[in-house]
Amino acid sequence: MREKNAIVPNLPPSDRCCGCAACYAICPKNAITMCPDAEGFLQPTVNHKACINCGKCENVCPVLNQGLPRTPLAVYAAKAKDDNLRRISSSGGVFSLLARQVLDKGGAVYGAAFEPPTHKVVHKRVTDEAGLDELRGSKYVQSEIGETYISVREDLENGMSVLFSGCPCQVAGLRRFLGKEYDNLLLVDVICHAVPSPLAWQKYLSCQENKEHAKISRTFSRRNCDWRSFALSLEFVNPSGKAYLIDSASGTYIHAFGAELLNRKTCHKCSFRSFKSGCDITIGDFWGIERIYPDMNDNNGVSAVICSTEKGNNVFLQNARFVEVRQSTIKQVMRRNKSVYYDFRINRKRNDFFDQIRECNFDEIVETLLDPPWWFKILKCIKRYIFSVIK
Ligand SMILES: Cc1cc2nc3c(=O)[nH]c(=O)nc-3n(C[C@H](O)[C@H](O)[C@H](O)COP(=O)(O)OP(=O)(O)OC[C@H]3O[C@@H](n4cnc5c(N)ncnc54)[C@H](O)[C@@H]3O)c2cc1C
Repeated sequence: MREKNAIVPNLPPSDRCCGCAACYAICPKNAITMCPDAEGFLQPTVNHKACINCGKCENVCPVLNQGLPRTPLAVYAAKAKDDNLRRISSSGGVFSLLARQVLDKGGAVYGAAFEPPTHKVVHKRVTDEAGLDELRGSKYVQSEIGETYISVREDLENGMSVLFSGCPCQVAGLRRFLGKEYDNLLLVDVICHAVPSPLAWQKYLSCQENKEHAKISRTFSRRNCDWRSFALSLEFVNPSGKAYLIDSASGTYIHAFGAELLNRKTCHKCSFRSFKSGCDITIGDFWGIERIYPDMNDNNGVSAVICSTEKGNNVFLQNARFVEVRQSTIKQVMRRNKSVYYDFRINRKRNDFFDQIRECNFDEIVETLLDPPWWFKILKCIKRYIFSVIK
């Protein structure tokens, strides 16, 4: 317990908080609630009447207590031998292989899923293959952790094998919440570019529903498509009950995500890149595989697998029967994948986007803000003309 008169708690300001919810989970008095800020990102809000100044929230915060960068033990290019598994995954299907190892032992797997009917992204516990299907695929929205860390601790204390997967900040948050190492826990994070706002996601969905005059029944990301595209598909049901699918790979949401308009501010100064999360394994897309191992490239997805601990490396290599693996290096992964070490620059129109998002139509804001300047359009026309003449 700290001094009685100390001003508490001294959590990071909103532009540094990553929203991992470790403070919420650790608070012994339930004095912390995770509430959306003006941009729709969850932030801790403290009930000062309930707070007892114990300082646990500050001690658990992974932003205030950052880990050191780790040097990976082993790096691989890997793809599941099951082509269908890769078709329904984002890259090489490695997440599913790791998860199945844990499920086969009667364990629990935690990861991000779309939650109907709102399609918000939440962290979920699954214990069978059917559940695993919901966790597959990258959802480009910050997921809500809720009670996940508490549930992970319960499973671990009951002796279950657990795989927790998420963004590096969430892995760091869980590690600090647990406060000790568990042999039965495997921590897997994704190479993370940045996470977009849940509010922006909801505004995008309602904009598409208004356009189609139909309700969205399901959302899918990066499945059954070219693995190089950040595809997003929406299933609508029209008033007569007919379901149909619209592929929004080139839509405004993916455009705005790629243009750094939607992301949490902290992601542009991320404290967890460079393997600082403390995970066992990091998985990502092996962009540029066609130059390194051309024979591995079948346009169906290859993962970069970076093992930071002996445990992670041993668990991954136990999959040998199900996966094609080649040795690689961080330098090879990095060549086309800067997110491993570097933050992306914030879009200077980001604040304009968030100033308008509550009142205006998502597609209109994005189209207006990302409309290229006149000189760029002219340059593009000239380029197109020159190419047509050369041809
Ligand atoms: C927001 C985001 C940004 C990413 N940025 C990059 C990048 O810049 N470079 C790169 O190489 N890879 C990036 N990835 C990771 C990549 O898209 C694949 O998720 C990864 O290669 C695993 O693919 P897979 O085929 O093994 O498994 P999949 O089955 O596709 O794996 C999905 C995994 O991602 C987790 N996940 C999905 N959505 C979220 C979410 N919103 N929050 C937390 N965890 C989630 C699931 O829990 C599961 O573990 C990003 C992923 C996300 C979610």
